[in-house]
Amino acid sequence: MISRQYRSFHILTLLFISLMILGWGGFVVVEDRVVASQESPAPVVLPIQSTFLTYQPTGDYLPMQIQPTYDFDEDDSFQKYLGNGQLLNNNEYVPEDLVPIDSNFTANASKRFSLRQEAATQFADMAWYFWNHFNAKLMISSAYRSSTFQQSLLKKGCSRARCAQVGSSEHQLWLAIDLGVITKGGKYIALNKGNLYYQWLIEHASDWWFHNSYQKGIEVGGQMAEWRHRRYMGEDLAKELQDKQITFSEYMKDQSSQQVVKTTNTL
Ligand SMILES: [Zn+2]
Repeated sequence: MISRQYRSFHILTLLFISLMILGWGGFVVVEDRVVASQESPAPVVLPIQSTFLTYQPTGDYLPMQIQPTYDFDEDDSFQKYLGNGQLLNNNEYVPEDLVPIDSNFTANASKRFSLRQEAATQFADMAWYFWNHFNAKLMISSAYRSSTFQQSLLKKGCSRARCAQVGSSEHQLWLAIDLGVITKGGKYIALNKGNLYYQWLIEHASDWWFHNSYQKGIEVGGQMAEWRHRRYMGEDLAKELQDKQITFSEYMKDQSSQQVVKTTNTL
């Protein structure tokens, strides 16, 4: 009797161990499948939902070169310009297409941070390429910041050079993200001008339509240089800035000087 019970116990134990092994094996297979599906990502082709305007020559003047025209003013444009004296139209602006960032290749939980959908998808793709290239992961330190939070930073004594005026931060557009790097060994590396991670992002982030808008300091951009900062611009403008090796604020200065020429010509 005892030996039969003992045998039953053994059979149950063996069954349990077998299930554990099979279960773990299944888990590993599922994990591998997840990774495998990320190893050969298809090129990301996204519909452009930004508010590009189509240039319509009026006949009043003929520009020497017709360039894409962007919408720098509407809060929900990917090309909205914020800077000194250039504020959000609505300080409480919240876009309709917000999503949590969904990536398995950031060092911290990406879903705690949100961006507008197109920016979030492009960022997740970039994070995979970054990990694949360096075997290190991007760490998100900040994405969206509300006007209240921005106000609290200023009240705590953060200078205007370091912290943008309320309504003038690209983080309020839900298009900006601050990044660092965690190496394979778990070491935190800040993005700094000249280091290989920063250099990779400077060379490649525009492939995913991101741009470091705060990279040339107060004199040029009105903000202290912020190496960790990347802002989503949409395809055409990101590529144009990369091709010309200029920042968004330099581009805007160039636009306004062209505007002066245009006005002068029509007088
Ligand atoms: Zn930032």
